Amino acid sequence: MQRYFGRIVDKHAILDDGDQYHLVKVMRARQGDQIEVVNEGKLFLCTISSLKPLNIVTTAQIKENNELKNDVVLIASLLKGDKMDLVLQKATELGAEEIVLLQSERSIAKIRNLDRDFKLERFNRIVKEAAEQSKRTRLPLLYRVIKFNELPEVEADIKLMAYEGEQGSSASFLNALKEIKPGQRIAILIGPEGGFSFDEVSEAKDYGYKTVSLGRRILRAETASFYALSVLASHLERK
Ligand code: SAM
Repeated sequence: MQRYFGRIVDKHAILDDGDQYHLVKVMRARQGDQIEVVNEGKLFLCTISSLKPLNIVTTAQIKENNELKNDVVLIASLLKGDKMDLVLQKATELGAEEIVLLQSERSIAKIRNLDRDFKLERFNRIVKEAAEQSKRTRLPLLYRVIKFNELPEVEADIKLMAYEGEQGSSASFLNALKEIKPGQRIAILIGPEGGFSFDEVSEAKDYGYKTVSLGRRILRAETASFYALSVLASHLERK
């Protein structure tokens, strides 16, 4: 069943224009069809009561929670091209509650003011579609692009920096996960294609980040995000 993030007003579901088009033209919905609508973390079963004009009524609220037990924030350095799209999509599927884009020293990709709004709007669409496809009951927040010295704005109880200079196995990462307590918010910081500079590593440590290894191999930046979030999600959902 198709899921959308929309608004619920007086037992009616309101979808944005893009979702209305998708429902009627792409999914060729018919009167009487049912869809799911998520509004502020609550999931509703809805029925299309009419197509012209489109009218969707709520029929039941469904108790479902597909979210991770702890809030996870992925701080991802900007990456070129569709790698950034992939990171946003996979981070959403893997349960990130917030995604922060970081303009780090060696980020090849740059988001200039003139195209920032357009890019962020496209990134938000990727996150929304991934949240609907993966049956999330919360839409991850895509925070604005920050500079390295704005890292303290990202609140977290446990701050981990995936640093390829950290020698050895991923034991340091796995041990850090064992320290996680219920309700704690975890931030994972991933570098760009060119990696973190030494200054960035020491600055992150000043902000309370612990450097961890993701294993003995050097992963591409996008792989590092997928790996770190997958291990974290499976750790949080192990029981
Ligand atoms: N310095 C790397 C190199 O020698 O190719 C380039 C950085 S790597 C492609 C991109 C990012 O992924 C790193 O900044 C780090 O955040 C993460 N990463 C990749 N492999 C890692 C590992 N084995 N341990 C910790 N972080 C890793």
